[in-house]
Amino acid sequence: MTATIIDGKAVAAEVRARVADGVRAFAEGHGGNVPGLATVLVGEDPASQVYVGNKRKQTEEVGMRSIHCGLDALTPQDELLALIDELNTDDGVDGILVQLPLPEGIDQDAVVAAIDPRKDVDGLTAGSAGLLAQGRPGLVPCTPQGVMELLRVGGVDVEGAEAVVVGRSILVGRPVASLLVNASATVTVCHSRTRDLPAVCRRADILIAAVGSPRMVKADWVKPGAAVIDVGVNRTDEGLVGDVDFEAAKEVAGAITPVPGGVGPMTIAMLLSNTLRAASAGAEAAATPSA
Ligand code: NAP
Repeated sequence: MTATIIDGKAVAAEVRARVADGVRAFAEGHGGNVPGLATVLVGEDPASQVYVGNKRKQTEEVGMRSIHCGLDALTPQDELLALIDELNTDDGVDGILVQLPLPEGIDQDAVVAAIDPRKDVDGLTAGSAGLLAQGRPGLVPCTPQGVMELLRVGGVDVEGAEAVVVGRSILVGRPVASLLVNASATVTVCHSRTRDLPAVCRRADILIAAVGSPRMVKADWVKPGAAVIDVGVNRTDEGLVGDVDFEAAKEVAGAITPVPGGVGPMTIAMLLSNTLRAASAGAEAAATPSA
């Protein structure tokens, strides 16, 4: 059996088209105003510059405003916190994205914690993580949300499924696990201390790999017919590869995402979707008379 390939590029394009429609409707209802996404980049790391550049370009392509704040690598933490404070109170800013990692010497947790939870479009504050863990509405981290959208579009039945997530990071593994629990899957979270990882993975109807280890997940770790979502992005001599041995695993899985072209394109699409959500929630709150 050869798996259905879930095309993340196409799904991300659909999400962006939906967001663009939503932005047009938002503007019609709000006197021509469009949602604004602020990007904060500290320093000149080339990879971060590319990521932020792509976020800004796609923000504008869906009709939203991109507000960019580029700071010197030696910017003191207080100055960065003061900028976040300004963006928190700026009515023209609906979402704030601080590009990580931050330069050494800056306390990343303190900076993320300073973001107003209503503008936390990366979903990385403890408040957003808490709401997600409790199964309550809030802003959800972008890559994990992208994983769920790929499962949905791939026609994967999550309710009651046995799901295994390999990786327990705050950015990917944990929020993916919470989203799967909230969607009524039975979830196992694996990490570097998990015993007999291949056997645990073989139980999975839905297998999510978020490790950062090239082609670690082998075909014989995959249950025949399982849905395999590969979050891994590893730069090797042969180019970008995922955490799953794609060529072999696709002969066993029922559905699988490639790398590149799977989860990767979903992240910015979900960031744009979060920004539109944050803007809509903000506009609704502003229109509701306080008691
Ligand atoms: P991370 O913070 O380094 O976390 C990696 C996780 O994998 C940890 O929980 C670690 O376990 C676990 N792990 C490491 N080696 C393992 C092993 N041999 N067996 C089982 N588990 C193992 O990485 P991350 O930020 O979650 O990212 C994971 C991957 O996704 C990376 O390749 C990253 O580039 C990619 N990524 C892609 C996107 C995107 O496509 N847009 C976004 C974010 C991340 P311990 O907790 O025990 O150390």
